[in-house]
Amino acid sequence: MKTYYLTFQVLPAIYNQQHDLLQGALASCWIVAEDSQSAYAKAKFFVSKDDWEINQLKSSPVEVTKENFLEKEIGLEQYIKAQEDGIAIFYTAWARDASTITEPTTLPVLPSFRINLHEYIRKQKKLSQNGRCLHYDNGVGCNKIINAHSIQKNRSLSAIAVDGKVYEISKNIGDLKNNKGKFIYKKNGINKVSTFLGFCKKHDNELFEAIDNWPLLPTNQQVFLYAYRSLCREFFVKENAYDLFDSQLSGTPDKHAVRDLLETTKLGTTFALENLKAQKFEYDSSLCKKFYTDIKYVLFISKQKPFLAFSGLFYPDFDFMGNQLQDLGDFKKSLALITICSAPMANNEWGFLFAWHKSSSNVCVAFMRSLATIIHDKKNLGDFLFRLAVSNCENIAISPEWWEKLPAEHKEQISTKVTSMIDLFEPIKPTYLMNGLEGIVQWSFEEVICNME
Ligand SMILES: [Zn+2]
Repeated sequence: MKTYYLTFQVLPAIYNQQHDLLQGALASCWIVAEDSQSAYAKAKFFVSKDDWEINQLKSSPVEVTKENFLEKEIGLEQYIKAQEDGIAIFYTAWARDASTITEPTTLPVLPSFRINLHEYIRKQKKLSQNGRCLHYDNGVGCNKIINAHSIQKNRSLSAIAVDGKVYEISKNIGDLKNNKGKFIYKKNGINKVSTFLGFCKKHDNELFEAIDNWPLLPTNQQVFLYAYRSLCREFFVKENAYDLFDSQLSGTPDKHAVRDLLETTKLGTTFALENLKAQKFEYDSSLCKKFYTDIKYVLFISKQKPFLAFSGLFYPDFDFMGNQLQDLGDFKKSLALITICSAPMANNEWGFLFAWHKSSSNVCVAFMRSLATIIHDKKNLGDFLFRLAVSNCENIAISPEWWEKLPAEHKEQISTKVTSMIDLFEPIKPTYLMNGLEGIVQWSFEEVICNME
């Protein structure tokens, strides 16, 4: 991450009498970011959030180091603050009639509105505890909702755990604050990792029997179920996110930067949820007819001891060579979806599984073909698959045995990659699957099975 410095010419957005005295004001921003574009977006948001109206960008983002501010007391102070908090903003205002003022005055900036974090977390927790059965045949019989594992527990999570614990991304806001807004990994018991209240006991046991009690062979049915479970977990999470943004919006004042951000996020979540609903409809129709061949997949098999367990999905936007496959910002089109997961196999092997419903084949086949080109060009497949899992799957568990031996710089690179994928202010780069995180894993895959064509 780099530090950028930029300034805006600003005016108070909310009027009060003191503002009559103001001739002008300047917001100087020190932002830790991946690139100048995200530094600009982040600065703009936080300045607006402090109730300033931005008149113009006074100086564009430039990369800076501590040396740039050695002679400047305030600048250095703010630069150091940005290193700790990820952001520092300093406002300077000057009066219309300067002759009456002899000394500069320091005033605190008190924004008219702040998100009530405590309330936000409470609501989030409450929503995640609102159990419901997502089985295609749900109804009155679904009376006992259980904590279902979205990552297979008995063979997958327990295989990488040490003393019943694995590392996962910490969702604790305190951790996020303490680490300059960067996501970190924390140890948690496998009974709690990857669980969601998305199935009743009866349906969970019945439906997932073929993958919970058997290693992946693979049969079409097993692949279907792995994909379906990833889909249902995401559906559960996105429905909750939608409700959360909705309730946050009702308590946020009009024409406020936080409201704009929430509205944009809600719009994106609505679109993602609509697409998930359409996907779930396709999966449900195939599942109730037992048309398991509607699932298409590519499975990479490794004989190495696994140290990751994961289950997730994403809408492939760019392939492994940086070509665009679909535009995630075009809210008029329905999106193709692919699921990824790790799966335990017989003889201590494990598989990296890509699977999608045939209705998504147009995009997913092109995505997998670009991976085939990578293999053909003798590039390091392990690096590409690891980068993909870390970038596109937040539902990931890591073996303590592996993580604790990992050099600090590798841990840092992984955290940075995860954060950049989740950061609202950072646009996704077309090349995000092409480079980064090289040489951290030494994965080898001996065999590939697929039913693509
Ligand atoms: Zn049920």
